[in-house]
Amino acid sequence: MTDRPIAEPRSDCPACGSGALKSLLHLPAIPVQSCILLDRADEGASFPRHEMRLTYCETCGFVFNAAFDERLIDYASATEESQHFSGTFNAFAKRLVEEIVATWPLEGRKVLEIGCGKGDFLRELCLAVRCQALGIDPGFIEERLETLDGGSLRFQREYFSPRTVNMRPDLVVCRHTLEHIGEVRAFVDNILPLVAGRPGAGIFFETPDVGRVLREGAFWDIYFEHCSYFTPGTHARLFRAAGYDVTDVRLDYGDQYIIQHARPAGGTSVPPHPAEEPLEELAAVAAAFPAKVAEVMAHWRDFVIRRYRDGQRIAVWGGGSKCVSFLTSLDLDEEIAQVIDINPHKQNRFLPGTGALVSAPEMLSKSPPDTVIVMNPVYLDEIGRSLADMGLSPELVAV
Ligand SMILES: [Zn+2]
Repeated sequence: MTDRPIAEPRSDCPACGSGALKSLLHLPAIPVQSCILLDRADEGASFPRHEMRLTYCETCGFVFNAAFDERLIDYASATEESQHFSGTFNAFAKRLVEEIVATWPLEGRKVLEIGCGKGDFLRELCLAVRCQALGIDPGFIEERLETLDGGSLRFQREYFSPRTVNMRPDLVVCRHTLEHIGEVRAFVDNILPLVAGRPGAGIFFETPDVGRVLREGAFWDIYFEHCSYFTPGTHARLFRAAGYDVTDVRLDYGDQYIIQHARPAGGTSVPPHPAEEPLEELAAVAAAFPAKVAEVMAHWRDFVIRRYRDGQRIAVWGGGSKCVSFLTSLDLDEEIAQVIDINPHKQNRFLPGTGALVSAPEMLSKSPPDTVIVMNPVYLDEIGRSLADMGLSPELVAV
C-alpha cells in the first residue's frame, strides 16, 4: 500500500527507478476491475472507473500504468481469472507442469505458488510429482478445488508477504501475477531470500508479453489490473538486476506469454540471456505505438458500427478482461448483441463497464449471430468447432 494521493501519476520507473519516461496511451476512464463479474446489469454499468496512463521507460524498456493505484482493486472480491475451462489452456498448463518437473528436481521437495488463483495449476503439479506445496492468493476459493490425499497441498487466502510464508521453497512458481504488481522490483526482491543460498532452488515465472500488444496496437490487452507490462528483455533484465541468473526465457502460448526459469545468481553479475531483445528495438516499437493503437481502435469501431447499422447481430466470444477492455475502450454498448463464455461461473452475470450479460454458447442457437468476434485468436479453432457443432456458420474473426 502506498501513501501517494490517488490523483498523482508517478514520475519514476517501478523497475529501474529512472525518470526518463514517455507517454504511450491515455485512457481517461476505464473500469478499475475487468476480471470481476456483477450480479446485476446496473452494478456493471456503474462500476468504478479510473484513468490509465500507459508509460514507457527509456532506460530499461519497462511499460507501466503511471496512474495505477492498487487501493482501487479488491482481488478478494469476485475475481474470475481461471482459464481452466478451456481445452487449449488445459493442454498448455499440462505441458508447463511437465516442463517444470523435467527442469527442477521436486520429488520430496517444497513448492510455493504466489498468486495461485483457484489452485488448479498447483494441484496439477502435485499430481505429477510428490512434493509439498503451498499456494497463496487473496482470491482463493476452497470449495472450488477437490482436495488431495495426504495433505501435501495447502493454501493461504491472502496477499503474498515473505513474513507469512512459513516454508523454505525449492521452487517459487508465479503465473500471471507480476503484471498485477505495481512495485515490481520490490516484489522480486522479496522472493529472492526465499530461494537464496540453497543449491537447486529457483523460480518459474509466466507473464503476459506486451511485445505483440505494442507492435499490433492490441488495446484489448491493456486494462487496469495489469499495471506492469513486460517483454522477454524487460522481464529478464528486471530479474538479473535484482540478483537472479535467468537460465531460460522465451515466448510461448502463441507468443502471448513469457516463460522464465531463474535461480539466485549468488553475487556474480550475469550476462544477458540470448532471448532478451535489445532496448533499441523496443524503443522503436514504443515510438510507433501511439499512432498504431489509434489506427487499430478506429478499425474495430468502424468494423462493429458498419455491421450494426446494417442490422447485423454481433457476438463477442470471451467474457473476460479482453472483452471488457475492447468494449469500454471503443465505447460500445448496444452494438454488441451477445457476449459468450464457456466458463459456467461467468454465465448469467454482467460485465463491468457496459453491464453486458455473459451467456453460454448454447444461447447462440436461439438467436444466431451474423458475426462472432473472438477475443483470443488461440481459441479460434476451438470456437469454430463449437459453432459448427451447433449448426452455425457466422463470420468468424479474431482480434
Ligand atoms: Zn525503467
